[in-house]
Amino acid sequence: MTNYLRPLEEEIYLSLVIPCLNEEDAILLFYNEAITALSTVANEKEIEFIFVDDGSTDKTIHILRELSTKDARVHYISFSRNFGKEAAILAGLRQASGRYVVTLDADGQDPPSLIPDMLEEVGSGAFDCAATRRGTRKGEPPVRSFFARRFYALMSKITDIDIVSGARDFRLMNRNYMEAVLALPERNRFSKGIFPWIGFKTKWFEYENIERKAGRTKWSFWKLFLYSLDAITAFSTKPLAIASIFGVLLFIISLILIAFIVVRKIVWGDPVGGWASTSCIILFCGGIQLFTTGILGQYLAKTYTEVKQRPHYIIRESQ
Ligand code: UDP
Ligand code: MG
Repeated sequence: MTNYLRPLEEEIYLSLVIPCLNEEDAILLFYNEAITALSTVANEKEIEFIFVDDGSTDKTIHILRELSTKDARVHYISFSRNFGKEAAILAGLRQASGRYVVTLDADGQDPPSLIPDMLEEVGSGAFDCAATRRGTRKGEPPVRSFFARRFYALMSKITDIDIVSGARDFRLMNRNYMEAVLALPERNRFSKGIFPWIGFKTKWFEYENIERKAGRTKWSFWKLFLYSLDAITAFSTKPLAIASIFGVLLFIISLILIAFIVVRKIVWGDPVGGWASTSCIILFCGGIQLFTTGILGQYLAKTYTEVKQRPHYIIRESQ
């Protein structure tokens, strides 16, 4: 293929892209685990680590600096502040020069021991990407599991793409696949939607949920909720249609009510009574209007951030 964004450095076989936010306790554990897991596949010279420090406030950057002086295969990119995991993965992919690239978390929840099997599937040419999903949501708070399931059910209803429930960001891809991911320029990056959108042949691996080895999760419930709103606006315009449907429904209901009141006045001569019901109706309509304006606002806000064309992240230091 000749459509690469930059020259393909054939000597790197596998690039590992690892987003890190305050992972001081996990990085070395991860590094050792990955080295052990990969000793069987790649000649040691052929792999590279690209750690992306997503604005950590702990000793993450010191550990990465030290690791990169000890091991020439270790590179890092450090952001000027926290730009989010999606931006971190994007930065890592742009930097990766391997023939195959794998993205995985630093916390041990994505077992590097699976990489040889993934490499085999993608390396054989039968698949362009090897993706992973959790078989179960064991070890996750029940409330979070419940909302996660509702979210995936909703997404599959309102988008055309098939977003896989429990899919992780642990993915191994070939160059072609990776260039396709990089060709999508949007700021609002929801990779669980981007991957099915670009297509290609994907082999799925399933494994049990593994507790993170050290540190704690960076996702609060609120952050996940906002992330799911981003996902919906990034891949579906159905909420806008819902807003119009609400409008049409209310209009029809109001016509029926008008007819009812007119007939009541003409036939029985009843005066129209009840300020309470009137104010309820006003409140109800006002609520619906604000709700639908809110939906419009979400799309407008996303359009605004896209047209500003700001960079996805800013690098403070790299090696
Ligand atoms: N992460 C990041 N930026 C963020 C949040 C998380 O780079 O703003 C990294 C984090 O260091 C970890 C991975 O993304 O390597 C997954 O985060 P976490 O383990 O907190 O999420 P979970 O596994 O609970 O979904
Ligand atoms: Mg994790």
